[in-house]
Amino acid sequence: MASIFSRIVKREIPAHIVAEDDRFLAFLDINPLTKGHTLVIPKAEVDYIYDLDDETLSGLHLFAKKIAGALKKVTACNRVAVAVLGLEVPHAHIHLIPMNQMSDANFSNPKLKLSGEELSSIATSLRQALSQ
Ligand code: AMP
Repeated sequence: MASIFSRIVKREIPAHIVAEDDRFLAFLDINPLTKGHTLVIPKAEVDYIYDLDDETLSGLHLFAKKIAGALKKVTACNRVAVAVLGLEVPHAHIHLIPMNQMSDANFSNPKLKLSGEELSSIATSLRQALSQ
């Protein structure tokens, strides 16, 4: 069965898409730790990030770097934390988390409850920043 992220790639389920090219996709995490928390994935469905071939792995990180730049600009955060962890979704993904202090990137924190409108507005701002 396709992963939930593959279903987002195929637009079978909705997501707040931030950026896309032929190999990678970035979309807002539905349960963000901080405003702008974004997931960056390869479109190819591979569970474990270090099972990606070298070209896809490096491309994924370079794609994430662009998103991180937009996140820093839009959220005015101090830094963008990068995390690969978790076992929930068996599709390789990088978490990009705007942070101002270490505790912002603690996955034990309660997740923010953002409305669809707020998520949509953040995604729009990120897309605009990426297009400049
Ligand atoms: P993990 O595998 O532990 O890194 O967690 C997967 C992440 O994907 C979690 O932060 C979830 O909130 C997020 N997530 C799961 N389903 C969706 C979805 N449909 N849209 C956006 N984010 C999702």
